[in-house]
Amino acid sequence: MPKDAPFVVVGAGLPGIVAALTVAEKGRRCILIDTAEEIGGLLRSYEVDGYTFDFGTHFANPSGIAKLDRLLFGEQESEWKEYPVLSAGNFWNGSLNEGSDNPDLNSLARDVHYRCLGDLLSAPGWRGEDEPECADDYLVAEYGRSLVEVFFDPVLKKFTGKSSHHLHYRANLLFNLKRFAVLDKTATEELKTSERFDARIAFHHRSHFKGHRPCLYPKSGGIGRWIEQLEGKLRAAGVEILTASTISDIKTFQGKVTTLTVGGKTINIAHLFWSAAPAMFCRLASLEVNGPPPEFRSTVLAGFVFDKKFTSECDYVTVFDPDFASFRVTLYENFRKSEVGRFGATVEFMVAPERVEACDWTRIAAEEMSRMGLVDYEAAPRSQHVKVVRNGFPVQTNESVANLGVQARDTKAFSNLHLIGRASGEGWFLDGLIRGAWETAEAVAD
Ligand SMILES: Cc1cc2nc3c(=O)[nH]c(=O)nc-3n(C[C@H](O)[C@H](O)[C@H](O)COP(=O)(O)OP(=O)(O)OC[C@H]3O[C@@H](n4cnc5c(N)ncnc54)[C@H](O)[C@@H]3O)c2cc1C
Repeated sequence: MPKDAPFVVVGAGLPGIVAALTVAEKGRRCILIDTAEEIGGLLRSYEVDGYTFDFGTHFANPSGIAKLDRLLFGEQESEWKEYPVLSAGNFWNGSLNEGSDNPDLNSLARDVHYRCLGDLLSAPGWRGEDEPECADDYLVAEYGRSLVEVFFDPVLKKFTGKSSHHLHYRANLLFNLKRFAVLDKTATEELKTSERFDARIAFHHRSHFKGHRPCLYPKSGGIGRWIEQLEGKLRAAGVEILTASTISDIKTFQGKVTTLTVGGKTINIAHLFWSAAPAMFCRLASLEVNGPPPEFRSTVLAGFVFDKKFTSECDYVTVFDPDFASFRVTLYENFRKSEVGRFGATVEFMVAPERVEACDWTRIAAEEMSRMGLVDYEAAPRSQHVKVVRNGFPVQTNESVANLGVQARDTKAFSNLHLIGRASGEGWFLDGLIRGAWETAEAVAD
């Protein structure tokens, strides 16, 4: 390996950017490669008719690790607005709960509520020695049959297109479906003194929980402003950024990745950080790829600018109700408060890729926002548009989780290859992935 071989990072989502910045700030030569025209992945923002939109709900979370936070936010503190608690709501059983993003069993008929609660309190928990075979086995053991029938199964079906019998046992965690509000505040406080019930029972209102982690959002523009700040840092640290660049070949030798060819140019590699699909690495390196390609739900984002204030104060609302097609609604102007007299919102849908073209998503989104009580029925959209993220959310079947595991294992055969971001299979939520990428890069570059 030539002495000056660079560290190469493939995929310039936030985990890739963090890895590149970490190694570059340690004085390593670094090249960051992305197929897209711009860096940032899902953290970019875009403008339509002069209004800035994000790809759904994306806030920044300080990690609490001084070194990492300095890298992510340092020197630009004045450009961020801090939110001690976000106003997250949810819509379920035909009712809007503006106090919490957790479903409240009080919105069910009383007999159904008590049946679900009885089952929940007497559920034994998963006691098998092996991993549960599917989400249904695990959720019934942990939450009881009634809640699976009334909540988990219909909601997972809506979000993934699969019943809980066909999903990996941890599939609920991708959507943070863990806790339910029950009974009243006093009973909740009693129940939450038990560690076991604390993990399953939610506070009725966000203000009852004292452990919120603050969030940050840029004072102007969208979350993409963060990427602009980091791009400045990457350039200042000397990272070579190759956008709109397609990798055509990867060579390996004796347990190491040796070269990568991009845009007809072959680059020697000291270390490779990979945040694109692991199967893509395997294909480019002429390794065998097992099993069918992973299944995804496409995310359709319907964006609006309304001429009237929203009728809810929520920053965002998760829509569990299976009678509604929406997955989540983000009401930008509620947290940006930019006083522009225009009220931007994005409605996300998770749909099978073949259904992306099948519906008039802006019509459905506007109708559902009005039916949920988020926007005045007389409010007129001044502007509306649709964006699609083809491979939005992974459908976590047992087979897809196992395949990802096999690909991750195959890639571990190369001592200088490091999977980061979603590709690592180590999580989905941004703050965990950023931390993972930073820890990996810190360890490798030292
Ligand atoms: C619609 C949506 C909403 C979300 N909401 C939240 C949320 O509210 N909270 C939260 O914590 N997380 C959320 N997530 C998850 C979070 O955004 C992702 O986990 C995170 O952005 C993953 O970063 P990444 O770098 O792994 O992937 P990405 O951000 O997708 O970046 C991957 C990058 O790799 C590039 N790339 C792909 N293939 C190649 C290739 N062959 N060669 C070079 N480059 C390539 C892509 O162009 C892209 O820039 C959401 C995800 C989606 C889809």
